[in-house]
Amino acid sequence: MKYDYDVVIVGGGIAGLTLADQLSRRQISLTLYQPHSGPRSSDVAAGMLAPSSEITFFAPDEAAVFLEARNYWDDFAPRLERDAGAKIYFDKTGTLLIAATPGDLQDLKRTHDFLRGLGIELEPLTLAQTRAIEPSIAPRLAGALRSEIDVQVDNRSVLVALDSVIRDRGVTVRDAQVTSLSFHDHVWTVTDELTTTVTARKVVVATGAADLSLLLGEATLSRLEIPKVRGVKGDILRLKPITGFEGPLHVLRSIVEGRWSYIVPRSHGEIVVGASMEERPPGQGPRVGAVFELLRDSTTIVPELRETELCEVRTGYRPATADARPLVGATGVEGLYINTAHFRHGFLLAPYTSYLLAEMIAEERGALSAFDDMVKPQRRPNTVS
Ligand SMILES: Cc1cc2nc3c(=O)[nH]c(=O)nc-3n(C[C@H](O)[C@H](O)[C@H](O)COP(=O)(O)OP(=O)(O)OC[C@H]3O[C@@H](n4cnc5c(N)ncnc54)[C@H](O)[C@@H]3O)c2cc1C
Repeated sequence: MKYDYDVVIVGGGIAGLTLADQLSRRQISLTLYQPHSGPRSSDVAAGMLAPSSEITFFAPDEAAVFLEARNYWDDFAPRLERDAGAKIYFDKTGTLLIAATPGDLQDLKRTHDFLRGLGIELEPLTLAQTRAIEPSIAPRLAGALRSEIDVQVDNRSVLVALDSVIRDRGVTVRDAQVTSLSFHDHVWTVTDELTTTVTARKVVVATGAADLSLLLGEATLSRLEIPKVRGVKGDILRLKPITGFEGPLHVLRSIVEGRWSYIVPRSHGEIVVGASMEERPPGQGPRVGAVFELLRDSTTIVPELRETELCEVRTGYRPATADARPLVGATGVEGLYINTAHFRHGFLLAPYTSYLLAEMIAEERGALSAFDDMVKPQRRPNTVS
């Protein structure tokens, strides 16, 4: 039976776009569905590439994949800028983890001990040392750690660059929601909301926090033992300097009376302040209390943020499984793959996991070349191994 493309990718966030980039580099014919009206958490993310300061959010045995993914960015970022002819603001100034109170400093020390156990060494700094390299922080804080491996990128510039690169390579990007997938005689038929159909040998579902059962069906997911995906809500702010104050020099991850938040300054002027993390139903907007706490905690760390303009308040839903691990790989159904659930770390992880998945698809392998056990979609749902 004939088909239109080798691969159809459903969903054009960071997961779908990085995969489209990798496959189109390998001259694999593909089309990508990216409905502009749909929610896309990749637009709201802060763009931190932070294996060490995100450590409290993943299991110890995952550290290796986080570090590999971070290292992958050192090649990926310049290559993407070259291919797109555009800047993505990959910024390696580094990150300061800052404790506001003596109690917070104890928490930070515990985090440091945990990191050491994983072989990740950070540099402890006194307040005076911290203020010498980051003059924007308040005079009465407790102490800090410096991480040189935690860096950042402008998430929106990355999305624009990827979109332009894949279009230049001839990939058709379709502004439509996919409504059904069907399989017959070794070929997938993908139908969208406009009732247009395309056919392909392989389909990759990269639909972020959308319920996988909408496309794959509840019964199929449970038969294949694929965990459910849910969205974990996050409110996030974007600020802009309006006085002489340009923002901090480093990414600042701070803990204020037990609450973690971050400030991400871009070299082009934007300052991102985030983010809440809440289990809420889909479709909600920013919560007043969450925005209040972000403003209070970020101005505790950097008082001059009070003099910036609050330009944007957004909400996104991080795609997550019960075991907080991504779903990347084959599903057990011929030609059907998943690339989602990168949770809090989509920008850190997706360029690397998409690279592994593209190799698997291109070379018709049965497993990813690394970390297959950790991220393969077919694992018993709702268990942490
Ligand atoms: C507040 C916040 C801050 C974050 N900060 C960071 C950070 O600093 N660093 C980091 O690494 N990660 C961060 N993340 C996490 C990161 O944003 C996500 O892991 C990542 O964006 C997920 O990418 P994705 O492509 O899987 O999903 P998305 O970006 O949500 O893209 C999925 C796409 O699929 C489309 N889609 C869904 N259903 C269909 C369908 N049926 N047909 C066609 N298309 C469909 C959607 O419309 C959407 O465009 C943050 C997330 C949030 C919410």
